[in-house]
Amino acid sequence: MSEHFLEVTNLQKHFPIFGGILSRPVAWVKAVDGVSFYLEQGETLGLVGESGCGKSTTGRTILRLLEPTGGSVRFKNKDLVELDRSQMRDMRRNMQMIFQDPYASLNPRMTVGNIIEEPLVIHGIGTKVDRRKKVVALLQEVGLREEHASRYPHEFSGGQRQRIGIARALAIEPELIVADEPVSALDVSIQAQVINLLQALQKRRGLTYLFVAHNLSVVEHISDRVAVMYLGKIVEIAPAKKLYAMPKHPYTRALLSAVPIPDPDVHPKRIILEGDVPSPIKAPPGCRFHPRCPVAQAEASRVQKCRSEDPPLVDIGEEQFVACHFIAEADHIFGESRTRQPGQS
Ligand code: SF4
Repeated sequence: MSEHFLEVTNLQKHFPIFGGILSRPVAWVKAVDGVSFYLEQGETLGLVGESGCGKSTTGRTILRLLEPTGGSVRFKNKDLVELDRSQMRDMRRNMQMIFQDPYASLNPRMTVGNIIEEPLVIHGIGTKVDRRKKVVALLQEVGLREEHASRYPHEFSGGQRQRIGIARALAIEPELIVADEPVSALDVSIQAQVINLLQALQKRRGLTYLFVAHNLSVVEHISDRVAVMYLGKIVEIAPAKKLYAMPKHPYTRALLSAVPIPDPDVHPKRIILEGDVPSPIKAPPGCRFHPRCPVAQAEASRVQKCRSEDPPLVDIGEEQFVACHFIAEADHIFGESRTRQPGQS
């Protein structure tokens, strides 16, 4: 039995590449390849990484918008992977998704009122009158007005469309929201408004968020804990404050070295990674990061180990988990902290 609100264990999503005359699978894109983490009720877990690392696919596979290749997703003490279609449909009342592109995710031929009402109709909730009242309440809750119900998506700005997407996701009172890059398509000034709205809704409704994003500053602001993905695997997971102050995995260190620190006296060294992210069709053996890892590349004996052994995600204390054979050596190369520690001048 799972102790956590959501528990994802060894989740995999592999996509076949077909080829040959018989159009058989000739290779597999291992977009998600053994991802494990948990989420407690009411918390926000940020899931970050470069594009193509598998973070969005992880979110979609958890909700079974994509069928998992393997692993388990325990939610409310049920393994979602084992539910049949109708059981999964019932379960979706508890879990909804907010998409990156609010315009593409809203049907342009439906009024905003009908868009928000649709999930209630699908799940057979309330009478027509009840549903209309609920639509008005939802519009107001996300900062829109009653008269907006009769308009169409193209009449709204990007930020307003994302508010409509959020109202639709909330219509059936879900407990878990997977937000897939919910502010990436918006102007910076609007991003903060939508993030503030998501935080206010979380407080009011006790929502739990899996927040998928590539913008590390946004993720730091909204997340309780953050998981970092590289080529289909989680390489580090820790409380947000801890991860941003003391990243331990060489990849996390490199990602964060590009994020400005709001302290004029601290000038972290930018870590430039060599080479491109390898293809998930042919992921490097052992630690997938080894061809680009400055810690491994510093010594031949390290490269050998990193190339041959896939490091497990290990608990290093204070809820920080890291998948690296050479954490102490990385500290030695990069220093232990990105920020000033208490008492440090
Ligand atoms: Fe780098 Fe090796 Fe650690 Fe992977 S296991 S991050 S290659 S040092």
